[in-house]
Amino acid sequence: MSILVDNDSPKVDDRDGMNAAAARPRIGLHTGIAGGLHNALLKARSLGADAVQIFSRNPRGWKARPLEPEEVEQFKRVRAETGVRPVAVHANYLINLAAADQTVREKSVASFREEVERGLALGADYLVVHPGSARGACESDAIRTCAESLKAACDGLELGTFRILLENTAGQGECIGHRFEHLREIREQCPELNLGVCLDTAHAFTAGYDIRDADGLAAALDALDTNVNLGNVLAVHFNDSKAAYDSRVDRHWHIGHGHIGAEALGRVASHPRLAHAAFLLETPSDETCDDACNLEVLRSFVKTT
Ligand SMILES: [Zn+2]
Ligand SMILES: [Zn+2]
Repeated sequence: MSILVDNDSPKVDDRDGMNAAAARPRIGLHTGIAGGLHNALLKARSLGADAVQIFSRNPRGWKARPLEPEEVEQFKRVRAETGVRPVAVHANYLINLAAADQTVREKSVASFREEVERGLALGADYLVVHPGSARGACESDAIRTCAESLKAACDGLELGTFRILLENTAGQGECIGHRFEHLREIREQCPELNLGVCLDTAHAFTAGYDIRDADGLAAALDALDTNVNLGNVLAVHFNDSKAAYDSRVDRHWHIGHGHIGAEALGRVASHPRLAHAAFLLETPSDETCDDACNLEVLRSFVKTT
């Protein structure tokens, strides 16, 4: 499908205040930081990626080694050399901003503040976080707790152009964020943070947004737009799903090898209403397909626009 770009054309979809058809999306992947944070940028560049997502520290531990000034400087220098953008940091997995348990919540707020500070120090563009789990509390309480935690964590910090992105979840267990309405409510309860959104295709699919055909995708994008405005959807986690539709199970899979499938994912990657977002793979790397192979499939999808 080819879309002619003509600023005077009424056919160009400009509902989100931008000429979304004017560009192909930037594409990239989540990659490791073994041997130094800057290695993620070098890996992205070696694969021909535009963008990258990293953990800035061990994602499964509360304690993070502080960033040394030299590694921050090296990261910024390599970033300038490679031109990789946007750089997204994914917050660690222990953080639960919606926790009903006071101790867990306090640790989460402190850890998330540290994630924000590290992201700012590195000059990253985005910090992606899951809204959390409502264990022991009702959904509306969990949403309120999440918004309060975000505000507490960012209190007194100057975010500038740095954006925190709420990621939609698969809805495993008692996680909030699997309905776009949850993201809307969290955003509305802390307007001063100007929260963005990260759409994970595998999570949306297993949470009950059936994006397998064009009508289903259009409906999902309408729902997303109504709730958070597509202009705020700054990243797409581009994953196929090993788990079935509406299963509420979170299992990322190789592009085109899962239950969403190549045709449907091709439609997502070439959709003009998402062309402003950065598409980031979070797919496995194994004998079926590695990072280079999944990125090649994604590249082939965006080339068709
Ligand atoms: Zn995530
Ligand atoms: Zn994700």
